[in-house]
Amino acid sequence: MNTFPAPRPKAVIFDLGKVLLDFDYGIAIRGIAENSSASAEELRVLIDQSPLLYRYETGLISTREFYEAVRGAGFKGTLEQFSALFADMFFEVESMVRLNQNLRLAGVPTYIFSNTNELAIHHILSTFPFFRNFDGFILSYEHKSMKPAEPIYLAVEEMTGLSGDALLYVDDRIENVEAGIRRGWQVIHHVAAPQTIEAVRHKLLIGEVMM
Ligand SMILES: [Mg+2]
Repeated sequence: MNTFPAPRPKAVIFDLGKVLLDFDYGIAIRGIAENSSASAEELRVLIDQSPLLYRYETGLISTREFYEAVRGAGFKGTLEQFSALFADMFFEVESMVRLNQNLRLAGVPTYIFSNTNELAIHHILSTFPFFRNFDGFILSYEHKSMKPAEPIYLAVEEMTGLSGDALLYVDDRIENVEAGIRRGWQVIHHVAAPQTIEAVRHKLLIGEVMM
């Protein structure tokens, strides 16, 4: 057993959904259903954690093809209306956004590592200023690979120029965290902001004053 303390990580890799941004697909689905001949339940099956969303978030289909599939199921609005309804379901997790800001003030590079899609990212970029405050973005639809598959973890290592325990990775999904462990990364399984902030501070050896 390795009893030596892990070295200080050189960069922090943040998952986005349920870590820096909370989200609720129910909001998007209700809005789409109000402009559709399909029921909210039918739309939920089509959109939320579905094969269609998986294809969209791995970049196998375009935004227009995603929209056309929902239109085929009964949505009556334009692509622009769909884009606004689909993406408007995010809320900032303020304490975690502050953590990122403080890490950057302390000179620690930070990155976004997310299973996501073009509509969500365009909306988030135009709505949340904090989203510009990262060194880089590793997004599933741009890499045609989704967490927890290994190729997108290799993309993180390539973009950061770091690997193994030089990376500290924060994600709320255990299967994603476990894939990080297999790469030798330091990890925090995110459950709630106070514990994550304390764990990051401990691993980065940053004092209370900074965080
Ligand atoms: Mg997440």
